[in-house]
Amino acid sequence: MRLVLLGAPGSGKGTQADLLKAKYNCVHISTGDILRKNLREKTELGLRAEAFMNKGELVPDDLIIDMVGEKLRNDGAAGGFLMDGFPRTVPQAEAFDKILNEMECPLDAVLLIKVDEEIIVRRLTNRRTCRACGKILNLLSAGAGTGKCPACGGEIYQRDDDCEQVIRNRLDVYREQTEPLVAWYESRGLLRVIEALEHYTPEDTFKGAEAALGL
Ligand code: AMP
Repeated sequence: MRLVLLGAPGSGKGTQADLLKAKYNCVHISTGDILRKNLREKTELGLRAEAFMNKGELVPDDLIIDMVGEKLRNDGAAGGFLMDGFPRTVPQAEAFDKILNEMECPLDAVLLIKVDEEIIVRRLTNRRTCRACGKILNLLSAGAGTGKCPACGGEIYQRDDDCEQVIRNRLDVYREQTEPLVAWYESRGLLRVIEALEHYTPEDTFKGAEAALGL
């Protein structure tokens, strides 16, 4: 499976990637996770990306494209991958196409997860992340208020960019720079859509995703 997960920040791409990875055993590539790792390790890339990330803006295309190209060449794309948070601009999508053509492994599909913006704001302000394993938790659901990750016991924290002002900015950035990819992939016949309604559990959305992808 060579799949791009597309959707606004907080639409559940990371959660769906975890479910897809567990069932279909493919590599999950989250550009946000790679960047946060670089930030923690204070690499040159991390230091260059930090100011953009803290404001909820996009890191420049050339940095991201080099980073993803290297990752795909190292990990090998042929065995399948789930791209989470990439591409986020049309130039990124064009560069991604070129890399995949060179590697002779074209995309199978792009899954758009549609969620109402106000639901996203509520979800992201309550989102917590495990510093150790990256698991995503929500204060509104049971188990996340203990301060410890239910999966690995690691420390639970709130991402700097999960505060309301930065979230609103990230949503504006999504609308302006990433949403044009919906039409871009639709015109290439790759787009599949799932609408994640407010009362849906991650498993409900997952079932819808599998149906949309014909799995
Ligand atoms: P995410 O975890 O996907 O929400 O990403 C967190 C932040 O990392 C974003 O707000 C951007 O600043 C940066 N980022 C992640 N992926 C990309 C990308 N494909 N292009 C540009 N910036 C990105």
